[in-house]
Amino acid sequence: MKENFFNKLLNKARENAALACLHLADGSTRTYAQVFDRAGQYARTLQALGVGPGDRVAVQVEKSAENLTLYLGTLQAGAVYVPLNTAYTREEVAYFLGDAEPALFVGGAADAELASRFPGIRCLTLDAQGQGTLVDEVNRHQPLATVVPRETTDLAAIVYTSGTTGRSKGAMLCHGNLAMNAEALIEAWGWQASDVLLHALPIFHVHGLFIAMHCALGTGTPMIFLPKFVGAETLRWLNRATVLMGVPTFYTRLLGESGLTAESVRHMRVFISGSAPLTPQTFAEFETRTGHRILERYGMSETIINTTNPLVGERVPGTVGYALPGVEVRIADAAGVEVPRGEVGMIEVRGGNVFSGYWRMPDKTREEIRADGFFITGDLGTMAADGRVAIVGRGKDLVISGGYNVYPKEIEEALDDIPGVRESAVIGVPHADFGEAVVAIVVPDGEPLDLEQLRPHLADRLAKFKQPKALFNVGELPRNTMGKVQKNILRDTYRNTFRAE
Ligand code: AMP
Repeated sequence: MKENFFNKLLNKARENAALACLHLADGSTRTYAQVFDRAGQYARTLQALGVGPGDRVAVQVEKSAENLTLYLGTLQAGAVYVPLNTAYTREEVAYFLGDAEPALFVGGAADAELASRFPGIRCLTLDAQGQGTLVDEVNRHQPLATVVPRETTDLAAIVYTSGTTGRSKGAMLCHGNLAMNAEALIEAWGWQASDVLLHALPIFHVHGLFIAMHCALGTGTPMIFLPKFVGAETLRWLNRATVLMGVPTFYTRLLGESGLTAESVRHMRVFISGSAPLTPQTFAEFETRTGHRILERYGMSETIINTTNPLVGERVPGTVGYALPGVEVRIADAAGVEVPRGEVGMIEVRGGNVFSGYWRMPDKTREEIRADGFFITGDLGTMAADGRVAIVGRGKDLVISGGYNVYPKEIEEALDDIPGVRESAVIGVPHADFGEAVVAIVVPDGEPLDLEQLRPHLADRLAKFKQPKALFNVGELPRNTMGKVQKNILRDTYRNTFRAE
């Protein structure tokens, strides 16, 4: 089917041409007409630079309105957007350029050296103020008046997974994936003409780039577009918003602001959380303080969004709700056979949201997408009788101690319930006797805890084989930019805990 996803957004932009699309941190506003005209200038510039349909445009720049219009212009020109985390080092970016082979790389001013390593790739800069050589080019061009036709199965973006084990993989997302997911989310979250989204997420990741932005652009409603999340400032902007989408860290930081009260967020329609688990403690504290029950949903680079708690109906903490319309979820064993309801298994997903494979990795694609079309997510979970899904943890974080499966989340929840514990992370480390031993890393609320005092609390709640063999106090857990705890770093740090035994 012929459908460049950009057309859907453009139609909404035309209907709402004179209305605000972006409220920027400097107090200025851009209308839909301005944003989509600018996107058109980018599209024409890409064409002038020889970037054709299917060509990749790799982008590693700070979040800005220019960055957003570069993304839209790439879609309009029928090219493939490849966002890169701003935290990536030059060597990491070199890997992505070698892998994606973009026609154009838009990066920082310091990337001239990188450019010299890839003579076949056009390298241009773009900075947050919109000053730079690409912007100079763009300013010279009129908007492209047409939209380059694409099939729903044509590539729209390649999103590299964070790759904590092995090389990062490029998830290939098509125009149809973006369109289907945007439509399902707008419906599921009851998007309204009066909505104003507070957008403080990065736009190099599916959460900020697709999930958040497509809900607003797909309904022609405004976004408060902030370069990043800063607790006090974000709270001030919240006065003008109706929807916040964030990672759990946003909510723990907001709870640290004394200005967060029921009164201050009375006008909000919904708070949405995802990309990492929201603890039941944060959910409960947020409800006590504001009266709002945070709506948690579950997604990933390869599938955008899979499941969501309901807008109307019970939002159950510690669960990620039900499969979106058009998405099938099953909890399966290693052979892909569904396990009985309530039992732990691998979460598998099939539907219009599922990516078409990993860029130039046919073997990986075959390993992770089954012949029947189900994608093996790598997340372990359960499904209740009514279809409600709960995530137990990443499969690779499962600890096997003395032959028993230990699901870290269960131990983390028990630890987090103990007074004086702010949060915790549980990992498995090598152990001569048990194969792996359970180790808990604990962040105290204030002073370091006497860890031995925690043991009696756990003894009441957990079978002996699940109880940590060692506990450590730390000031904070290592997290990536999306708020995910980096357990690979913890495993490295505590790898030798039992080496002498
Ligand atoms: P990414 O591809 O960077 O978006 O990471 C996707 C992974 O984030 C998923 O496979 C899950 O492990 C995790 N994730 C996303 N949303 C949630 C959630 N609501 N609860 C727990 N884990 C989540």
